[in-house]
Amino acid sequence: MEKITTDIAVIGGGVIGLAVALQLRREGREVLLLEPNEPGSGASFGNAGTIADYAIIPVGTPAVLKNLASLLLNADSPLSIRKAALPTLFPWLIRFTYQSLPHRYRDNTNRIADLLSDASSAWLTLACEIGASDLLSAKGCLYLYETPQAFKAASSDIALRRNYGISQELLTSDEVQCLEPNLPAYEGGGLFFPKAINFSDPGRVMDAMAEAARGSGVEFIRSSVRVIARERGGVKIMSATHEIKARSVVIAAGAHSGPLAHQIGDPVPLDTERGYHLEFDMLRAPVERPVCPTHHGFYFCPMEGRLRVAGTVELGGLAAPPNPRRLDLLLSNARRVFPHLGKPSRTWMGFRPSMPDSVPVIRPSKGGKDIVFAFGHGHIGLTLAPRTARIVSAILAA
Ligand SMILES: Cc1cc2nc3c(=O)[nH]c(=O)nc-3n(C[C@H](O)[C@H](O)[C@H](O)COP(=O)(O)OP(=O)(O)OC[C@H]3O[C@@H](n4cnc5c(N)ncnc54)[C@H](O)[C@@H]3O)c2cc1C
Repeated sequence: MEKITTDIAVIGGGVIGLAVALQLRREGREVLLLEPNEPGSGASFGNAGTIADYAIIPVGTPAVLKNLASLLLNADSPLSIRKAALPTLFPWLIRFTYQSLPHRYRDNTNRIADLLSDASSAWLTLACEIGASDLLSAKGCLYLYETPQAFKAASSDIALRRNYGISQELLTSDEVQCLEPNLPAYEGGGLFFPKAINFSDPGRVMDAMAEAARGSGVEFIRSSVRVIARERGGVKIMSATHEIKARSVVIAAGAHSGPLAHQIGDPVPLDTERGYHLEFDMLRAPVERPVCPTHHGFYFCPMEGRLRVAGTVELGGLAAPPNPRRLDLLLSNARRVFPHLGKPSRTWMGFRPSMPDSVPVIRPSKGGKDIVFAFGHGHIGLTLAPRTARIVSAILAA
């Protein structure tokens, strides 16, 4: 067992932990990052790559609440639940239900919008710093509506985004075709976010972040933290191989952060929304920008040398293996839009770290700011990584 002393230990090397480590190192702090796997190989690897600064609306809304039972119990819906996981998930679902009530939904939207307000500019700066600007594309993002009724049902969300000053353009079916000529006709038209930016390869962005962090002097330890406890003069964390004494610790272990928070007496209702992706190797993707058929709850993402189809939510916990039915569903829905898609070149499942209110937990722990929480980013963790890093640094500096 190796014993180490450090200024700051960051637990978890996903996009959040890496962004935090980079920020703190930039400020001259001594930083050690613990991660059992390849950095950035969790949820941060397989996402849709969108810097979704328009995504102010939480998962739980009054509309979702109205249809919750039918959504959850239909295994083919974009928001489904593994029935075996129901008893364990029940407390989270009760909280989710409460957070979907109109007054909570409004407050949650407000808090998410506040966090997202400078997400794109923060990423432009960070991408430049880590040498990943060439992986950024600025062609906007497109939502699609199958029917005029579906578009009408989205009108309150559209009005809400307008109130928050988010750029969005309503497109007719013909205008959608002009923008993305390979799409079939969408009777309900589309909604275009012209200022949205996206990454053409989240995995490569993670590699660039890890390399930049190493280059700046962040020390990486390939190990999983099992124990965290306060003791005189600091925080002790233990992994199978190391005992580390740190002045401050940042918990950024994504969907796995819950037990660590529990150990220090500050439990949080964190669970996971499992998400999936399929990839099809091809020279040129059939879309120019991330495109979301809203009724299916996934994005078509043009990526380097491939098309990624990423999204959907499955409430099902961390332990169960990927559900082949969800992958089949993703494939059949993707083929409804692009019938020529063949066999996927690869498939993936990952764990979004999800709070019932869709608001990430970025705060000092209740016992003090020697331990800071930075997890629970749900659907917008990639987007919020640089902003989260700045908030964490401000907490530690206060
Ligand atoms: C299908 C899908 C599509 C998505 N699309 C988007 C999108 O377009 N835009 C967007 O902004 N977000 C998107 N997201 C969400 C985003 O990917 C996540 O919010 C984000 O990756 C969370 O980052 P993280 O660092 O908290 O978690 P992770 O990337 O999961 O990293 C957590 C890390 O902690 C490590 N860890 C766990 N336990 C321990 C321990 N005990 N000790 C040490 N290390 C530990 C893990 O190994 C892991 O590497 C999507 C997610 C999915 C699943």
